[in-house]
Formats: sequence, C-alpha cells, structure tokens
Amino acid sequence: MEKIRYYISTLLILSISVVFAQEDSSKERAPGHLNQSKFKQMYEEFATPNMYRSASGTPGPNYYQQQADYKMDIELDDKNAIIYGTETITYHNNAPDVLEFLWLQLDQNVRSRDSKAPLRDGNGVASAYRTGSFAKEFLSSSFDGGFKIEYVKDNSGNPLPYTINQTMMRIDLPTVLKSGEQVSFSVKWWYKIPDHTVDRARSGYEFFPKDGNRAYVIAQFFPRMAVYSDVEGWQNHQFWGRGEFALPFGNYDVNITVPADHTLDATGVLVNRKEVFNKEMMKRYEAAKKSYDKPVLIVTQEEAEAAEKGFSENKKTWKFRAENVRDYGFATSRKFIWDMQAVKIGKKDVMAVSLYPKEGNPLWEEFSTKAVASTLKSYSAHTFDYPYHKAISVHAKNQGMEYPMICWNYGRPNEDGTYSDRTKYGMISVIIHEVGHNFFPMIVNSDERQWGWMDEGLDTFMQYLAEQEFGEAYPEVIAPNAKYPSRRGDPSKIVPYMSGDQSTISPIMANPENVYQLGPNAYAKPATALNILRETVMGKELFDHAFKTYSQRWKFKHPTPEDFFRTMEDASAVDLDWFWRSWFYTTDYVDIGVKRVKKFYVSDKPGKQMKAYMAARNLTEADLPPYVYLVDDESEEYDPSLSGKSPSEISQPLKEFMMDNLTAEERAMVKEPKFFYEVTFDKPGGIPMPLIVEFTYADGTRENITYPPEIWRKNDAEVKRVISSEKEIVGIMVDPKAETADIDVTNNGWPKKEQESEFNKFKKGIKGE
Ligand SMILES: [Zn+2]
Repeated sequence: MEKIRYYISTLLILSISVVFAQEDSSKERAPGHLNQSKFKQMYEEFATPNMYRSASGTPGPNYYQQQADYKMDIELDDKNAIIYGTETITYHNNAPDVLEFLWLQLDQNVRSRDSKAPLRDGNGVASAYRTGSFAKEFLSSSFDGGFKIEYVKDNSGNPLPYTINQTMMRIDLPTVLKSGEQVSFSVKWWYKIPDHTVDRARSGYEFFPKDGNRAYVIAQFFPRMAVYSDVEGWQNHQFWGRGEFALPFGNYDVNITVPADHTLDATGVLVNRKEVFNKEMMKRYEAAKKSYDKPVLIVTQEEAEAAEKGFSENKKTWKFRAENVRDYGFATSRKFIWDMQAVKIGKKDVMAVSLYPKEGNPLWEEFSTKAVASTLKSYSAHTFDYPYHKAISVHAKNQGMEYPMICWNYGRPNEDGTYSDRTKYGMISVIIHEVGHNFFPMIVNSDERQWGWMDEGLDTFMQYLAEQEFGEAYPEVIAPNAKYPSRRGDPSKIVPYMSGDQSTISPIMANPENVYQLGPNAYAKPATALNILRETVMGKELFDHAFKTYSQRWKFKHPTPEDFFRTMEDASAVDLDWFWRSWFYTTDYVDIGVKRVKKFYVSDKPGKQMKAYMAARNLTEADLPPYVYLVDDESEEYDPSLSGKSPSEISQPLKEFMMDNLTAEERAMVKEPKFFYEVTFDKPGGIPMPLIVEFTYADGTRENITYPPEIWRKNDAEVKRVISSEKEIVGIMVDPKAETADIDVTNNGWPKKEQESEFNKFKKGIKGE
C-alpha cells in the first residue's frame, strides 16, 4: 500500500522537476573544483592498511608488539620524601626490525631544575594563578624533582652507555638486538617526591600538618620502556606534562619497602599477604572475598587513626606480581583506611578496593567501593570481562589519575564531614572515570602521548553510560526520579564549546600538547560524538556490537585511530567517513534549520511557471504527455472549486492512470494526499547529520521522520523535501529532542514565532477562506 502511494507521488514529482531542470543548462560555466564533499572517502586521511593493520580495523597477520618485563626493588624514605629503586628490565624485540638502541621514559625529569617544559608557553601574564603554579613560576625554589640515574648496567654488571635528552633516555646496545631476541639490563635511580597538591603533579604526596603524616600516590616512578611499533617506530615524543603515556605490556615483580606501620596497595597480586597482614586483617580479607553486597573493612578508621601516631622506624616489604600490565603504581600511608568487596564479572570474582585517609569520610566509606564495583560491571558489559583480579580507588586530594588496577581520585568532604552534591557526584564520577581507564588505555592500549582522545574520549563516553547505569542501580544515591547528573556526554552540554571562538578550538585529531582546550577536545567532544553516533546515527544495537568488537580486537594490543574508525564500520555496515571527517578531523559544528515551507495544490491545468515554460517552447497541452500539475500556491489564484477534492477527482489523467494500473481492490486501499508542501531545510553548520523532523498536523497528532545524513551528500547547504499528506501540517521542528548538538535552535522551528501572523494567513489560504 505504502509502495503504491510512494510510486505515484515520485512518478509525478520527478516528471515535473525534470522539466524545470532542463532550463538551467544555459547557465554560464563555473570553474571546476576538487572533491570537497564531507562524504568523500577517507583514503587521504587514513594510513594505508598493511600486513600489521588490516583494512577491516583488525590486527593484521604480521601484527607484533614489544614486551618489557620488570623486576624492581623500591624503597620509600618517608622522612625525606625520597624514593629509591633498582630495576632489571628484560626487553623482548618482537619487531621484524633490528634495534641499535633502546629508548626509556624519564617522566620525572619534567620536574628537574633544567626542564624545558616551563619555558615553552608564550601566553603572557595571567590575571589569576593557582597558588601552587604561582609559587612554581615566580618563587625561586631549590626543589629538583628529576631522576638521578646512578647506573645503567648490562646483564654481567658492565656499564652501558646512555644519553639523556630531557625526559627520554637512550641506551646504546653493545650489539644490535635482532628480531626475536631479548636483552636484560639494570638501572639504579632515585628522585625527590613532589607534593602533588602544590605541584599539580600526577604522582607525589599530600602532607597532613595536623598529624605530620604523608599519603603517597606513586606512579611514573621508574625509568619505563618507550613503545616501539609499526606506526611510530620509537614513541619518544618528549613528556611535556599533558600528553600522557605510551607503554608496552609486560610482567612485573615488584618489592616495595615502606615504614612497617604503612598500609599499601599496588598494581598486581600481593604475593606475601601472610607476611604483611596480621591475623585480624587476614580474617577480614577472607570475609571481603565473600561479600558481594557491601565492602568489608580491612583497616578501620580507628586503626588508621592509631597508626597515624606511630612513626615506626621498622620497615616492611610488600611483594607484588603483575602479569600483562602496561604500567605500575602504588599508594602507601599510615593514614589509609582500607575496604574491599567482591564483584562477579563473568564467572570470575574481582575485588573492588578503596584506600582513603579519614579526611575522605564519610563520603569514601559510603560510595568509593560501590562506584568501583558498579564501574567494573558496566564497562565489562560493553567491552570485555575485566581481566585483572582487583581494581583499587585511592583518595588523593585534587587527583584523577589512572594506572593498571589502581587509580587516584578527588572528592573530599568539608572538615566537619559535610559535603555538597557537587563534591559527591564529582567523586563518584571521577572514580567511574579513572577505574574505567583500566579498559582504555590500560588494556586497550592506545598511544596517549599521540592521541589523547583515544583513551579520554572513549573512557568519557563509557563513563557516561556507566554513570547512567550507576544511577539506575543505586536510585537512593541520586535525587528522586532523576537521572545521574552526568557532566559530559549529553549533546546539549557540548554546544557552548562547539559554538565557541574558532581560534581556540582544535580538531579532535590533534596532539594533546597542541590543543587549546584539552577537556572539551579530548574528553567531552569525542564522548558526545560517540554518544550521538550510538543513539542517533547508528542505533544502539549496531553501535554496541561494533564498539565491543573494537574493544575485543584490541584488548592487550596497541590500536590507532584508524583501527577504531575502521572497526566501527567493519562491524556495522554503516558508512561513517562523513562522521569521522566532520566530528574528528574538523572544528565544524551542527546547525540545521527549516528555512521555507511552500504549499502546492493539484490541478488539471498548468500553473504560471509551467505555462511560461510551454510558451518559451511553443508547446500546447496537446503536445505534452498526460501530466498531473502541482501548482505553487503563492503564485497562483487558488481555485475554490478544488477545495476538498482528492487528486484523482481533480485530475482526469491520474484517474485514468489508476484505472489502468491498479486493481479495484488496490484502488479501494489508496489513500490520496490532499496537502502538498515543499519544505526547504538549510544547514548553516558544516557537519552533515541525520535530518530529524517532527511534523505537527492540524488534528494535533505528530509524526517523526528521520532522513539519513546522506540527504546532504549532493547539496551541503540546503535540501528540499516534498511532503504529501492527508492532513494539514501546522508545525515543523528539526531535531525536536535536541539529540544532535545543534548550536542554534532559533532556526529549527516552523512557523517562526515572529512569522506567526504570516503563518496564519498561510493556513487561511489552505482552507480557502
Ligand atoms: Zn581520563
């Protein structure tokens, strides 16, 4: 039935537009042009697929990755806030290439006295400085937080030559490392730990003057192997502070020696639990492993407060083994309260763990472990089952940083224990985000130094889903009948950024060091783009399958942006070149509106335009094949005798066509439209999007039609749709549910408010009054 109607209306409309199109052929010729279409294939932007990375977005048949295994002995000097370490790295060259040297990352050198990082900004005076930044910039300080390398030795204890270039260290190998070979060497080092609350460092200590203790969150603390890959060769782009990390996978055996009264947790399985736990802690730990609904305290607040006063001179060594991780972190303090619970992931139990000083309560005992457990469930459902045995959330002031199995999170109540909603939701959200980073980039191991959005954007997108799922799982935590108040992800939230000053916006596909606004660029915009892709462009089913396919193809591997873009198409059959180009490669924005609505009516006589066409060619009606005429309401005198008649009643040729082509039964089922409109939609914004239109009819009913984004493929500025309807249209709204991040909604509706009177006139015309 619908088919017949469609067939008839397209047949008629096509005929007439073909007639008018012929008139344009006499136009003056414009110069030629390159393919500027947003729908152009992405062959120029994408790297060519090869044996390492396939065109489908999957790892290719010759895909390889390097491996770096670490054996480390670490000692913390709590009195002086210095960390000492020796490490033996075994580096496996799985590349087909021969390596003459190795590159290691010395990230702490960003805080060495001769660091160039503070010298590269050219912005002039700021009207306000964070206190710590002011002190760092203008108060001369003797603090030197760079690595002191004591030696680099080969397997037999002979010194190896090395060169330090800022945050990178090259070790020159006495003999080349061939494909398939491995080499072991040792590095001894130490550095002064910064106060991260002053220095805005990702790692360091917070000092608590009331009790004289420090709480340490320690990461980037050892010379780490850089990534060597088929894409970058050595990823030895300097660490300037913003572009995060690129690290190979490996196995870690780490012994960490701290004061005996510290509570510590770290990446990896604690292998000497019986040595470092007392009997009571063991008992509680066994209970926690069976507690799926609430955390069990391993160290209580009372015990932590007692430990704060101890300042033991004795030492204790905590021993960990971590397999297939790309990095290592730990947290230690006398001040830590410790709780954990079990969470079922697939068939496995994972421990959700929290470490926090009493300053974090009552917020932390209430929400931290709950948020960890909920995050592991949500992310696992959308990607793959969380493969490690635990995930730890550590409370550290102003921090939000991620490492394998462990992360640092902000969210501190006021001193009297009260807290605002902002603090509460900020804390839950940062925990979801940082625990979520276990998936991106700790397991789906993208190159953060090169592409901030690949971990931050994907993680922030997943964070949005996980926050909404947290809100559904714990309705008592959020406001009654409300959704979880996500800060990022909803399309409307990205509008201020995307409609902002173009000189301070970069495409998502830019290095994190070089973008103007890292938060919106690497977090919010890609997260929103993916959210829109899921909800509005692809649909949840196709998107979720493709996103899961990407996650599973690239877990424990090193994906590039193309691997993501290609997989999303490969697994869904949705052509997304236009979407990646517009959202990821440009700073374009979405703005789509309804520009004009013209009414037409059916006539058996040609209208003015058709008559002019015929006159110019000396044609009479007898010279033409049978036509049904759609006549422009504005330029014609409306013939009241046509009022209330159906097209086949008005047009003899149409009546004959129906008699010849349709059976009596089919004719009885035909619904004939009485109203014809030509609606012009315009697109001031550069991004093509699905054209989502809500039509409101005179009887108050509404209908939604979504035209695919390809409607813009031949005309990026405006398109026209002919709407034939049995009911009079009284209103049109583009993107009625605000799902496309349209930056200007004043052009989204028809009739426009100021054109109300004209609209009424228009309506009267239709009714023939
Ligand atoms: Zn992040």
